Amino acid sequence: MEDELKLLQKQIMTCQRCLLAGYPIQGPPIFSGNADARLMVIGQAPGRVEAGQTLKPFSGSAGKRLFRWFGQVGWEEDDFRARFYMSSVTKCFPGPNKSGRGDRAPSRKEQRLCSDWLEAELMLVDPEVVVPVGKMAIERFFGRNRKLVDIIGARFQIDGRIVVPLPHPSGASAWIQKPEHQALIQRALGHLAEVRESLDL
Ligand code: SF4
Repeated sequence: MEDELKLLQKQIMTCQRCLLAGYPIQGPPIFSGNADARLMVIGQAPGRVEAGQTLKPFSGSAGKRLFRWFGQVGWEEDDFRARFYMSSVTKCFPGPNKSGRGDRAPSRKEQRLCSDWLEAELMLVDPEVVVPVGKMAIERFFGRNRKLVDIIGARFQIDGRIVVPLPHPSGASAWIQKPEHQALIQRALGHLAEVRESLDL
């Protein structure tokens, strides 16, 4: 699977589907990890830090909060990055939003254009555990009609994998600031700690 994944990653790196469809995305596609990863994190899309500076998933301010959460689980960032796969629903920076203060949310069409890359990553890496981060990634597993409060804080078994969703860790998210939602996040991190222990991850 390692060679097939490397080939897939090369194909993703030359992908221009969104540009050809007229979207103002800014490459390169951002993802990391190897075929032997036992856990996959799936985010929404890289931000300007990831795409413009570090070229690493979840390395901006939202990523710092995500790794603080993972630190509570017992995962240290460098080791986590070395052992696990990190990708997103759309892999290129979508550019700024209209106000210029944040990032544009990828459209449904961009999500569809990028979806078979994500499905191929899931198939080739075949992780035991998936952590969808944020609404867009959560919709891949639960559809569009479920509320975050019904999903965050629970552990699921989907297509033979353990799935533990987390909300988007953006500092701009009002959702994660609410005390009742912070309790759900702590419950989700508790599930991840149990999974880490039981699967020796
Ligand atoms: S976001 Fe996905 S589909 Fe769109 S250009 Fe980047 S890799 Fe291709």
